[in-house]
Amino acid sequence: HKSKLPNVGTTIFSVMSALATQHQAINLSQGFPNFESDPKLIDLVSQAMNSGYNQYAPMPGSLDLRLAISHKYQLLYNSNYHPEHEITVTAGATQAIFTIVSAFVRPKDEVIIFTPAYDCYQPAVELNGGITIEIPLHAPDYRIDWNLVAKKISSQTKLIIINTPHNPSGTILTEADMFQLEKLTNNTNIIVLSDEVYEHIIFDGANHQSICKFSNLKARSFITASFGKTFHNTGWKIGYCCAPKDLMTEFRKVHQFNVFSVNHPTQKGLADYMQDADTYLKLGEFFQHKRDLFLSLIANTKFTFKPAQGSYFQVLNYSALTNEADVEFAKRLTVDYKLASIPLSVFYSNQQDDRVLRFCFAKTDDTLKRATDILCKIS
Ligand code: PMP
Ligand code: GLN
Repeated sequence: HKSKLPNVGTTIFSVMSALATQHQAINLSQGFPNFESDPKLIDLVSQAMNSGYNQYAPMPGSLDLRLAISHKYQLLYNSNYHPEHEITVTAGATQAIFTIVSAFVRPKDEVIIFTPAYDCYQPAVELNGGITIEIPLHAPDYRIDWNLVAKKISSQTKLIIINTPHNPSGTILTEADMFQLEKLTNNTNIIVLSDEVYEHIIFDGANHQSICKFSNLKARSFITASFGKTFHNTGWKIGYCCAPKDLMTEFRKVHQFNVFSVNHPTQKGLADYMQDADTYLKLGEFFQHKRDLFLSLIANTKFTFKPAQGSYFQVLNYSALTNEADVEFAKRLTVDYKLASIPLSVFYSNQQDDRVLRFCFAKTDDTLKRATDILCKIS
């Protein structure tokens, strides 16, 4: 049979994590913490299981959780998403993204993505017959060239996918970026998917520019979010999306048939846990310590970098060390030096290689010390 995704292999996250396991390497590749969630949250989930939250959740998600999410948007961005019609709980951000694309993209529709891009965007577009229009970002700043975006927008543009804080580069979009996007989409029917899974992981006093802060943009946009990234439990696979009612109505037409609803006791536990806003408000500070530790420990190496502005990823340029292609170097680092990372070229369809690797610093301080010892040794 003919593959619907002829150019797709196995996601780099599975590949590098498997290689790390095989070679007993420290795994700073796939983005997940190597420490546990708050025991309080785990207790709340098991309490939910013990008190009968074990059958299907309502299709759009537990109402308690949607209320907690709605409250968060009021509190942080003074933005109103109606819990009943404008918030849907999903099986991670991944399912939200796939469902948004499936609900709106028709064959030949164009979807603008910025590369290096998180690897689930493009296959979702292709499976729905859409065409990805790729706008490359360049190391070391990874800024969006809005003039180029203006040139790439056409009557076929259905969707623009942005991601701030950005995986893999660790950069963030500014208010000026959002104004540019607002200007370019005004008087169009373009939908925006704003992937904000790292919204709380932002450093050096910067503010997260959620798309909901810009009213013209909010009216045409979905926000996607991930509890796995926020509360250190990527294995639970719970996330959500928000959008105005007209968009969310179309989203739910698909959601009800590709997942119906997601894990109920976990939703109840998360809803109870979120009653205390500190659970998410302290996250930036927590990860800034880890970023700073990681960077201070490699200060005297030949790796060059700009400190991540957000997310729990740091990209390092290694061109002063070797001329190897990034995929080769990432493999050698894993096999010979026992440290796994992610090469950035895999996130560009033309495999643009700026000699940059991504390291996940959502790890215990001890792991970060052992990992940076290796980086010092090879540098
Ligand atoms: N978007 C980005 C930018 C991500 O890094 C990830 C990985 N967490 C996702 C979406 C998917 O999130 P989830 O694990 O909740 O499906
Ligand atoms: N978001 C995680 C990362 O960027 C990986 C999630 C996955 O493995 N699909 O590393």
